[in-house]
Amino acid sequence: MNTETLITFAVALVLIPAAVIPYVRHIRAQERKARKRFEEAKIAGLQAAVSMHPHINATACIGCGGCTDVCPEGDVLGVIDGKAVLLHGSKCVGHGLCAEACPVGAIVMMMAAPGRSADLPILDENFETTVKNLFVVGELGGMGLIKNAITQGKKVVEHIATRPRAANGLYDVIVVGAGPAGLSAGLAAKAGRLKYAVLEQGDAGGTILQYPRRKIVMTSPVELPLWGKVKLTEASKETLLDLWKQVLVRTQLKVNTNEKVLDIIDAGGHFIVKTAAGEYPARHVVLALGRRGTPRKLGVPGEDLGKVTYRLIDAETYKDCDVLVVGGGDSAVEAAVGLALHGTNRVTLSYRKSEFTRLKERNARRLDEFRKRNAVNVLLGSNVKEIGEKEVRIETSDGMGTLPNDYVFIFAGGEMPFEFLKKAGIRFQEQVVA
Ligand SMILES: Cc1cc2nc3c(=O)[nH]c(=O)nc-3n(C[C@H](O)[C@H](O)[C@H](O)COP(=O)(O)OP(=O)(O)OC[C@H]3O[C@@H](n4cnc5c(N)ncnc54)[C@H](O)[C@@H]3O)c2cc1C
Repeated sequence: MNTETLITFAVALVLIPAAVIPYVRHIRAQERKARKRFEEAKIAGLQAAVSMHPHINATACIGCGGCTDVCPEGDVLGVIDGKAVLLHGSKCVGHGLCAEACPVGAIVMMMAAPGRSADLPILDENFETTVKNLFVVGELGGMGLIKNAITQGKKVVEHIATRPRAANGLYDVIVVGAGPAGLSAGLAAKAGRLKYAVLEQGDAGGTILQYPRRKIVMTSPVELPLWGKVKLTEASKETLLDLWKQVLVRTQLKVNTNEKVLDIIDAGGHFIVKTAAGEYPARHVVLALGRRGTPRKLGVPGEDLGKVTYRLIDAETYKDCDVLVVGGGDSAVEAAVGLALHGTNRVTLSYRKSEFTRLKERNARRLDEFRKRNAVNVLLGSNVKEIGEKEVRIETSDGMGTLPNDYVFIFAGGEMPFEFLKKAGIRFQEQVVA
């Protein structure tokens, strides 16, 4: 071996480990982080997907991590033992960028398994259900994302407009729900000069209203009837809601807010749409209910404050806060534990009964652990009486008390949209993917 070869060999001996060792360390650290997130999400009940999500073919996956880098939601996927895994499935909203980024095609997007709220109604190419003149659009039909909801809302009403107009005082179309799909359907109805009404149980905006504060919303340019192209691709929740407000003002779209639809009755040739405020006879009905259901409310003063929500979307958003979780089921316990996990929040769990009777064993054990080390303050036999900006009044066996409070999460059960569809006679697909 000559001197030159020896020098090359020595340089390689120094340079290769200098490059490889930090890389291997970095990969190991990433894996450790992913494993920790996986365990945390499992404990908080957030690991499994609830809607559209990536399905990974582990045999084909080469563990390159390309899918994890492109996810706009952050840590839906991670790489563990050299394979991509679903870390935080409930966070996935179906962007599908991971599937696009995978160089070996090991990811396909699919709906969550039945029982994780993924029952899909049977729809034809015009979004018509098995009940004639009754349509389902948006996330309720199985397709996530704002852009898809807007496109479907527009398309369904453009299709309805090709059918003969309703007579005898009937509405041409009643739109139920004012999320992206319902608002777009309402705008298309107004643009097509149909006799319409948009009925919304809460405020206009849909699920976007429930996003964590300042959440970055990713969407693609989309055409909104009577407005034109919405060019936002990356905007905060607040910017998007602001845009909806401008759309409502400029187009004068009428939305009946705080008017929940209770029933849809087939009256032979037309429907009667029933709300607490009245009845709407309609030729066509478009259901744009989303998939989140109608949470049961406590009915106490202050419940309409913006700090009160009925689901926990991202526990990590809340740091150094006084939070109250209300409820005695698995969702309430998982939320309380999730919020207490990082140790910076002061978490109280209030349940009106004197003991937890229907918890999964794992949740009962976990709650016990957190309770023993005072990470969660459990108030059994307690009732929330009033919610204020900075405090909550709560009645316990010791009498009336006040808790400092930044956020309230209520898990008092509710009604899923699928029950509503079944009641209306809509049939569902027998076998649902994954
Ligand atoms: C945390 C989170 C983050 C997300 N991030 C993104 C993102 O970045 N980009 C993106 O494209 N998508 C995102 N999504 C998904 C997106 O929000 C949904 O796909 C979209 O909102 C679906 O629109 P929709 O109109 O079908 O339903 P929804 O927005 O859910 O609206 C349904 C409406 O129907 C109303 N309703 C229900 N029942 C009744 C009734 N009986 N009577 C009257 N009204 C009723 C509800 O109150 C609600 O206002 C996210 C979702 C979540 C949960």
